[in-house]
Amino acid sequence: MANLSFSYSKMSTYKECPQKYKFRYILKIPEKPKYFFAFGTALHKVMEFMYANLKPPFPPLEETLRFFREDWQKTSFADKGYASVQKELEGYEEGVKIIEAYYKKHEKDIFNPLSTEFRTTQEVDGLSIISIVDRIDYLGEGKVSILDYKTGKTVKREPDQLLMYQKLMSQSPQLLNLVRTKEPTIEKVDVANLLFYYLPKLEEQIYTPAPKEEIDEFWQGVLKVADNIKAAKFTATPGETACKFCDYRNLCPVWKDKKAESFENLSAEAEQKSLSPLEVLAEKIDKLGTMQEDLSKLKAEVIKEMQALKLQRHFGKEYNVILDEKEYLNFADEKAVIALLKKENLLGKTLVPTLETIEDLFKNEQVSLEQKQALGALAKKVKTCDLKILKDIE
Ligand code: SF4
Repeated sequence: MANLSFSYSKMSTYKECPQKYKFRYILKIPEKPKYFFAFGTALHKVMEFMYANLKPPFPPLEETLRFFREDWQKTSFADKGYASVQKELEGYEEGVKIIEAYYKKHEKDIFNPLSTEFRTTQEVDGLSIISIVDRIDYLGEGKVSILDYKTGKTVKREPDQLLMYQKLMSQSPQLLNLVRTKEPTIEKVDVANLLFYYLPKLEEQIYTPAPKEEIDEFWQGVLKVADNIKAAKFTATPGETACKFCDYRNLCPVWKDKKAESFENLSAEAEQKSLSPLEVLAEKIDKLGTMQEDLSKLKAEVIKEMQALKLQRHFGKEYNVILDEKEYLNFADEKAVIALLKKENLLGKTLVPTLETIEDLFKNEQVSLEQKQALGALAKKVKTCDLKILKDIE
């Protein structure tokens, strides 16, 4: 029997919910793209690019930013999992800030890593384990430091991941060969240091290696998970957070029962009204539409009256409202704008030519007054007004 293909991600998915593991790895049902994965992958690629030639100094900041930008532009906002072009742009700008800050902090202390994106497949105890280590630094005398980049907003400890690295890297023949390119007489790799590097905060969390007993206990847990997978034990373990963000809810047996419950409620209501369930649902949709129309009319009246009375905020007994007025530039003739941006060599200054990025050109000091005037001639100022409705008086 072939060894079970395994990895840290597979183990953590199984621990989160065996049913999810089945959907993802056995049935291979695709999930929606997630923007935080796309963002993390993009920054990992940047780190690999910066350290890739294994020779200091880093490539110049502009070169790294160009690499980031070109790689970012290869996929659309939807492919990355962002809800809109604007959200994608915010992600891009956050990436630029992180790269700039990383340069500021590390430009002078760069050193040659032993490896970046170190990929191995090891056969251990009937498992074929794939691992990718973000960066390995050589400390001399067979000692290595293992580094994993994190790009999330919250600092979350994942000690299992480090225990996995420690176990696998200390017995990896490929890593031993790599260490021997530095010191040919080394007999064994010593994982002396493990650390998580949080890129958004430029913070390191350093862990000392775990004692052998802890590694052995952890490994027994890994083998148990692997045994359960081999025995096809995929009972769902629903959890509030896990299910909330799970793409398989529509297929999951746990949630199918819940949908059945809600259908039963709908059927009971239909029977009471002597209608079919579809007719009851249609009634509700019409009610919703009418309420939305009434809401829009009422909002327009309140806005008009507040503007007439020159009020920015006003209070009811339980609610209060704030006028939310915005002004933006509208470029009706898209083709003319793109042609102008091309002619004036300004296209490169906008990541994606959206209203926001074009508006930013007006604040950009590298854009001349004449260019701003030419752009301004194609724009029309538009004012919008909406209401913010608040429950409590603040
Ligand atoms: S919806 Fe919940 S129970 Fe079902 S597979 Fe996803 S995480 Fe597991």
